[in-house]
Amino acid sequence: MGSPSSTPVRRLLLKVSGEGFAKEGETALDTDRVRALAKQLRVLTSEGVQVATVIGGGNILRGAQSAHLGITRATGDYMGMLATVINGLALSDSLESNGVPSRVMSAIDVHKVCEPFIRRRAIRHMEKGRVVVLVGGLGNPYFTTDTTAAQRAAELDCDALFKATMVDGVYDKDPKKHDDAVFLPELSFAEVLEKQYRVMDLTAFALCRENDLPIVVFNMDDPDAVVQAARGDKVGTRISN
Ligand code: UDP
Repeated sequence: MGSPSSTPVRRLLLKVSGEGFAKEGETALDTDRVRALAKQLRVLTSEGVQVATVIGGGNILRGAQSAHLGITRATGDYMGMLATVINGLALSDSLESNGVPSRVMSAIDVHKVCEPFIRRRAIRHMEKGRVVVLVGGLGNPYFTTDTTAAQRAAELDCDALFKATMVDGVYDKDPKKHDDAVFLPELSFAEVLEKQYRVMDLTAFALCRENDLPIVVFNMDDPDAVVQAARGDKVGTRISN
């Protein structure tokens, strides 16, 4: 694809939505998609890139949707956080099957299945070439895994936040509804706010902006996108100050 547009990334935080772990319109885990991601991460780590991933849970449950099931919001949020643990275990298992060492670290205590999130330990894992799979969100209700991704990217001293989505990047309007939607490869944080483009929730976005953390949004189904973005090639939409 394109020529280098930015410096290669040394350490990155990859956010993957739960829906990226399911077939379109379905809620179960799609192991083919999980495996495809694991293979991309294998290439990344073989190139010496340090990787942490934050996994969403939207394919299983989102807290905000729990009210109509008669479940209180906070409980629904905890259920959503547990959903991310299931997705994270699937990714870690797939990584290990593909020869990539990984560690699952959770913000909520589930010590039978994964480690607690401890910042310095997470950094050490990455330095040793292990992919750190961060689950359980921030451990508190009323937050999202987008906000988790932004917070952890800052805390773990990552060079960029990569957001794998179901679209190629940011458009001026929804490409699924408008044939004339224009793709936007490069944006500033100010432009995103001014034009009200939906990239991630506002808390997550503000954290990235304040911490001068570039965001790259790309299509999860593009088999080379993560690797290209990490090399600094033009792929998806890049948002920076
Ligand atoms: N969640 C939460 N606190 C967090 C992160 C997540 O309460 O710090 C809950 C929330 O209910 C959310 C669900 O976990 O809806 C799954 O995360 P999210 O919706 O961000 O997943 P995604 O949309 O990325 O699949």
